[in-house]
Amino acid sequence: MPTTSPPAATTAALLAFDREHLWHPYTSMTDPAPVRLVTDARGCLLEVDGDWVVDGMSSWWSAIHGYRHPALDAALARQADRFSHVMFGGLTHEPAVELGRRLVDITPAPLERVFLADSGSVSVEVAMKMVLQYQRGVGRPERTRMLTVLGGYHGDTFDCMSITDPVGGMHALWSGLLPAQVFAQQPPSYDAAAAEIAAWADAVRDLAARHAHELAGIVVEPLLQGAGGMWPYPVACLRVLREVADEHGLVLVFDEIATGFGRTGHLFVSELVTPDVVCLGKALTGGYLTLAAVLTTDAVARGISGSEAGVLMHGPTFMGNPLACAVASASIDLLLASDWGARVGAIGEALASGLAPLRALPGVRDVRTVGAVGVVQLDHSVDVVAATAAALAAGVWLRPFRDLVYAMPPYVIDDAELDRLVAGIGAAVRAG
Ligand SMILES: *Cc1c(COP(=O)(O)O)cnc(C)c1O
Repeated sequence: MPTTSPPAATTAALLAFDREHLWHPYTSMTDPAPVRLVTDARGCLLEVDGDWVVDGMSSWWSAIHGYRHPALDAALARQADRFSHVMFGGLTHEPAVELGRRLVDITPAPLERVFLADSGSVSVEVAMKMVLQYQRGVGRPERTRMLTVLGGYHGDTFDCMSITDPVGGMHALWSGLLPAQVFAQQPPSYDAAAAEIAAWADAVRDLAARHAHELAGIVVEPLLQGAGGMWPYPVACLRVLREVADEHGLVLVFDEIATGFGRTGHLFVSELVTPDVVCLGKALTGGYLTLAAVLTTDAVARGISGSEAGVLMHGPTFMGNPLACAVASASIDLLLASDWGARVGAIGEALASGLAPLRALPGVRDVRTVGAVGVVQLDHSVDVVAATAAALAAGVWLRPFRDLVYAMPPYVIDDAELDRLVAGIGAAVRAG
């Protein structure tokens, strides 16, 4: 494709201002890591520093249909032609209703009450608030703590950090400021033997029984822990959590912000084990706009209504943003009309067979795939700058973190692009 890069002087000026004034995720303002300029994006390709490269990251799990999809562009333009936003307090609109209808339809039956939040982290905050208000509503106000597992990631706001892995979430940095939650061991690996799963289950049951008097809910990323370490685990662990929740009157929350919309090979992991609350985000709008949703059951909604407030005490300014809702409905329609299951399966197979040889490289600890996610774990922290540069030289955009080089490409990636992605991951692993 032709380049649409601005002249070199413009690029240099943009990057210079960026470096002086704009924070990027998890970076220093005074000694920032290098960033690169994106000037265009089509399908699975990004134009980065003037070169078209395959996007291995789907812009952090979100761009499942690729960039500039005509159906999503059209949905956005149609809504922008009507109105881009109105407050949701006292008003409603067709884009919100249509999205709500789809979400209720495609998630398991008991999840039928929908809260539209403006980002993944906010949706996790709302879910935890629902849990606390529910416990108050059913007469158990002393139930205020969450049970979760080590190795999780749930967002960067304070309550989200409190259930994120204590090391990965740097709890030591915030001691005294984060609510103290109850952490169980990380679930065993997805290929763990039955005895290992049983031992984990016993420990979780014990922990829950000891803390039952103060526990309000359980929050986990089901089946695959994402930003906490790209760790897939057995569905049997989710059944254990469901049993523990039922036994002790806890609200079970699945954070499907990363796993939702087909990424693991299931439209939602919640189809395998039904939670009481689910958080959706990331791929919800096909990567176009920030939006998240919290769905819960009638029973939880009724409990919340029985709390002293009588209502759910949350209502962001941009709640139910019509542009985001319109593009989310279009993205869901596209996904359901596609052969997404076959695509996810084919991407998973290509990543599994393409990445398997990397196991033999020095410095590689593990190679694993789940759904359309491929992970190479090193035995050391990745040199992110060197690995990123090596991937780009191979025509691929990757963003490794900690000891992980990984990819979750758009579902529309073609075979040639997949080959290039596999080569790019190999280059990053060798350089990192
Ligand atoms: C990304 C993510 C979040 C946070 O979502 P934001 O939109 O970045 O606030 C929460 N939970 C999980 C599992 C995520 O992957």
